[in-house]
Amino acid sequence: APLMELRGVKQHYPVHRHLPIGPRNFVKALDGVDLSVAPAQTVGVIGESGCGKSTLARVMSGLEKPTEGKVLFRGEDINGLKGDERREMRRNIQLIFQDPYSSLNPRMTVQELVGEPFEIHPEVAPKPGRKAKIKELLEMVGLNPDHGDRYPHNFSGGQQQRIGIARGIALNPQMLICDEPVSALDVSVRAQVVNLLDDLQKELGLSYLFIAHDLQIVRHISDRVATMYLGRVAELGGYADVYDAT
Ligand code: ADP
Ligand code: ADP
Repeated sequence: APLMELRGVKQHYPVHRHLPIGPRNFVKALDGVDLSVAPAQTVGVIGESGCGKSTLARVMSGLEKPTEGKVLFRGEDINGLKGDERREMRRNIQLIFQDPYSSLNPRMTVQELVGEPFEIHPEVAPKPGRKAKIKELLEMVGLNPDHGDRYPHNFSGGQQQRIGIARGIALNPQMLICDEPVSALDVSVRAQVVNLLDDLQKELGLSYLFIAHDLQIVRHISDRVATMYLGRVAELGGYADVYDAT
C-alpha cells in the first residue's frame, strides 16, 4: 500500500489575493493530480516555474487543504484528521524548505533550533537525554555536535540546510517533502546535501517527495519522476522511461 496518495487533487487560488474566486477567474495551481509515494520511495517532481510544484508540497504536507480531491496518508484523508491523529500526521510528514536561512530563527542557537520540534512533541525526546539526542541528530547530518551553541549565521549555506534537515528528521517522520532543498545552495555543495538526504533515506527508511529543477539531481535520487505541467502530472515513470529518449 502507498504511504501517501493524492486522488484528483485540485487547488484553486484567486487571480489576485483581494479578489474572490468567481466562476472563471481563478488560477488552477493544481488541476487534478493523482500521485502515490510508496514506503521508502523517492518520487522526484520537476517542471517549469509556476506549474504547481510548491502548491503540491504545501497540500501534501497538510499546510493547505485542497479545493477538491483527497490527500491520503496511510490510507486516511489528512484533512479529515483531528486532535491526536492530526498531530501524529503532522509529526510524520515534515517539510524541508528551499532557503534554510530564512526558515531558521536567527536568534536561536543550533541546539535550540534542532530541539524545537521536541517542544511540540516532547514524547519523542523527553527532557532527560534530550541534549544527547540533539547531539546525535547533529552528527547524523554531518555537523559538529560541539557547535550546538552557535547561531545560524555562523554556518555556511550547506551547513544551514543540514540544520534544516536535522529539524526535519528530529521527530522520526516517515515522509519528507523536500521543496527544492538544494536550489538556494552553492553549486559546489549541492551534491553533498543530496547525498546526505540519500544516506538518511537508506538509514531511516524515509519516503521523499523531492522537488528540484536540476535533472541530474532528480536522476540521482529518485525512484520515479513526476513531470508537472500546468497543474497536472504530465508524465510519470522511472527516470529512464521519461528521459532516456533525449
Ligand atoms: P511552482 O512551485 O511550480 O513554481 P507554484 O505552486 O508556486 O508553482 O504556483 C502555481 C501557480 O499558482 C502559479 O500560477 C502561482 O502564481 C499560483 N499560486 C501559487 N500560490 C498562490 C497563492 N497563494 N495565491 C494565488 N496564486 C498562487
Ligand atoms: P516558487 O519559488 O515556488 O515559484 P513563488 O515565489 O512563486 O514561489 O511564491 C512565493 C509565495 O508566494 C508562495 O508561498 C506562494 O503561495 C505565494 N504566491 C505565489 N503566487 C502568488 C499569487 N499569484 N498570489 C498570491 N500569492 C502567491
